[in-house]
Amino acid sequence: MKVSIIGSGYVGTVSAACFAELGHEVICIDIDGEKVRQINAGIAPIYEEGLEELMQKHAEQHLIATTDYDYAVARSDISFICVGTPSGDDGSIDLSIVRAASASLGRAIAKKDRYHIVIVKSTVVPETTEKVVLPTIEQYSGKRAGKDFGIAMNPEFLREGKAIYDFMHPDKIIIGAIDKRTGAIISELYRRLDCEVTYTDPKTAEMIKYVNNSFLATKISFSNEIGNICKKLGINTYEVMKAVGSDFRISPNFLNSGAGFGGSCFPKDVKALIGKAKDIGYAPILLESVIEVNEQQPLKMIELLKAKLGSVKGRRVAVLGLAFKNDTDDIRESRSIPVIAELLRLGADVTAYDPMASGEMKKVFSTITYHLSAAGALKDADACLIMTEWDEFKSLDSGFGLMRNSIVIDGRHMIVPQDIEQDIDYVGLCW
Ligand code: NAD
Repeated sequence: MKVSIIGSGYVGTVSAACFAELGHEVICIDIDGEKVRQINAGIAPIYEEGLEELMQKHAEQHLIATTDYDYAVARSDISFICVGTPSGDDGSIDLSIVRAASASLGRAIAKKDRYHIVIVKSTVVPETTEKVVLPTIEQYSGKRAGKDFGIAMNPEFLREGKAIYDFMHPDKIIIGAIDKRTGAIISELYRRLDCEVTYTDPKTAEMIKYVNNSFLATKISFSNEIGNICKKLGINTYEVMKAVGSDFRISPNFLNSGAGFGGSCFPKDVKALIGKAKDIGYAPILLESVIEVNEQQPLKMIELLKAKLGSVKGRRVAVLGLAFKNDTDDIRESRSIPVIAELLRLGADVTAYDPMASGEMKKVFSTITYHLSAAGALKDADACLIMTEWDEFKSLDSGFGLMRNSIVIDGRHMIVPQDIEQDIDYVGLCW
């Protein structure tokens, strides 16, 4: 099938590479000329395990990129909208990028005389596909939904770091189309994947995505709250959660306490659902608490640091891990950001290391010292804060020996103190 994909970020690029691998002809559309150039050269514009290999394999033949909507829409039967849906100032969803992409898509559809299908893959609050995207495309194309073009919402559930695997091995495919014809054509795209397809309407598909992420975020904030209580009581929260997670109704996943959740999805999506709920006159008490617990959690790292060091002013603090999680260079809403900001506010001398994300973090904090290894960041440090669960932090033993004071505050339950030969002053965030 011939597919165009609007937006070449995490979701758009991964979808493009995977659809090409599934045998479809793919054209990426992005307003960023540099990303377009990279994709056409077989270079992945973002880091994701296995992505560059797929892009090199399909570049030029089954996977090309352009900034030209008319060119891409004329040569495809289906367009996915995969642009960003950031939080607005009050946390509610900002749909301005989706509106702009829909308008450009509408103008391109106006010049076409064949039926075209529009699929929203961006995460959007319920009613967006039918009340924002559909009318925008009708307005700019002069055509009618259901007659001249089909429209559907098809949420994406991939995890950054495991995105290619998740796309190719989904546990659910949700197609919320306005009519059966559109739904049937979309399901053909996924025919080679071994997964049942759920057909529903657009607003249910939109809601499924929010509920999925909000529930996972709730599990994390719940585990963090329990972890905070356990710490005060001298109880090992990991032992508690391991036993609790063995209950088949609960499951052991997402019960790890630590510095909280970040990334481009959980914080933004929970806030967007809160905004939508308030818009329709409902006060979402539980969801607001999920965000509140998550915002307080990283600052508990600083409380522990101050309890160990006293004043932080002028002291060298190594921050290990800048990405919001391991195996990605994505720092959006990373829990290390509020921690570094607070350290700088308190006058600390911050050194940092991340295997992939230093380049991105330099755009946020240009004055801290970035190192090429954990050992470099730890040398002569007065304390170290572990913020991301990179595997290499499990074997930092000799690195800790380079510190001036071997105070290690672990925000991710990475260190097993019994395995460390150095004499470290170790404290876990919630344990
Ligand atoms: P992103 O910010 O990484 O990428 C968006 C891309 O869209 C950028 O390359 C940008 O240049 C491009 N763009 C902006 N305006 C455009 C326009 N008018 N026309 C064409 N291209 C335009 O975003 P992302 O992380 O890929 O997320 C995209 C959507 O998918 C969001 O709604 C997000 O919530 C959702 N989502 C993300 C993930 C994830 O793990 N990142 C997972 C599931 C769903």
